[in-house]
Amino acid sequence: MTTDTARSPKPNPYFPIAQLQCETDSGIDTIPLSEEVAFSSWQGVIPEQYWSLGADELSARVRAARETLGQDVVVLGHHYQREDIIQFADERGDSFALAQYAASRPESKYIVFCGVHFMAEAADILSGDHQRVILPNMEAGCSMADMAASADVYQAWRELEDVFGSTEDIIPVTYMNSAASLKAFCGKYGGVVCTSSNAGKVLDWAFARGKRVFFFPDQHLGRNTGAAMGIPLDQMVLWNWRLPAGSLGGRTVDELERSRVILWQGHCSVHQRFSLTQIEQARERHPGAQIVVHPECRYEVVQAADANGSTAYIAQYVADAPAGAVIGIGTEINLVSRLAREHPDKTVFCLDPVVCPCSTMYRVHPAYLAWVMESLVRGEVVNQIVVPEDEKRDARIALERMLALK
Ligand code: SF4
Repeated sequence: MTTDTARSPKPNPYFPIAQLQCETDSGIDTIPLSEEVAFSSWQGVIPEQYWSLGADELSARVRAARETLGQDVVVLGHHYQREDIIQFADERGDSFALAQYAASRPESKYIVFCGVHFMAEAADILSGDHQRVILPNMEAGCSMADMAASADVYQAWRELEDVFGSTEDIIPVTYMNSAASLKAFCGKYGGVVCTSSNAGKVLDWAFARGKRVFFFPDQHLGRNTGAAMGIPLDQMVLWNWRLPAGSLGGRTVDELERSRVILWQGHCSVHQRFSLTQIEQARERHPGAQIVVHPECRYEVVQAADANGSTAYIAQYVADAPAGAVIGIGTEINLVSRLAREHPDKTVFCLDPVVCPCSTMYRVHPAYLAWVMESLVRGEVVNQIVVPEDEKRDARIALERMLALK
């Protein structure tokens, strides 16, 4: 059982207030769970025997559990996971590629998804009924996905219906990084899911079916995609969901009528940190450097970069660059560090000098992986993610519409 004392983080002498510390002020190497500054806000129900174990012992225990479980388990690792997790991944990739991979492994009864909550939900939607999806730490959410609560989206939809008299001409599009309930919303109302690699194609599909698109939860991906299609910025309006119900998201009826894209005011806390100043400084320090960023970055950052694309695109961009190339990247630090290590003949660096990872991805500490895997060895399933059947059905419709575009 947990106790408050044992869960207290070890104070960082430079930032004595835990809430003001970044998890990785002391580096991105694994330290025991009980020493993590933010452990008190992570899933605390993990048995005490895992709290003080170091990286080597945890790796040895996960390895042993894997061997015992054999084909019964498949471990998936998102690109933003730390090295001590990625080493166990049967497949690594972005959320959608991993969910598809899980669906292609029917022989595995258990899918251990090392990523965040919405990703495990997507795996549960796409995998077979006989498969069980496990998220090592139930507190590994996504701040962007959390910015679009189902009740707020339904409220906005009703307000749009009042303004336009009907929602027939509005196509809802949700980014993969959203709760299953919102994928289901899109399935139900003629909409679709998109990823950062197919957002342009998805918006083309949507505009062939309606006058305007209601895009959530990431305003930046929506705006960057719309701008790349030639939609003027003033025809992409922001819906502020924090305003009281009935406020039309802070827009006037006239603005909504002139809009082609209604953007939910959500963002990724990791990608929104990248700035124009960082790009300018990188170009000053490394003349001739290529800058590649994720489309979850702000519009001006994407405009100033040489290229932008999904995590898979960024990884390929680095792989394709000639030896000696210098590449500044705007995405999560674990992926950037891995690319730098895998391409020692190139200079690969993160545009953000303050090395802060995705704090929710980071919650998948190897102690949680060891715990869920050893539980499976004992025949016990902990931290299963189950999407209700009605949500699954509607969410599948939205995902299938997207798949049909390929
Ligand atoms: S990197 Fe951003 S979008 Fe991805 S899981 Fe973390 S907070 Fe969510």
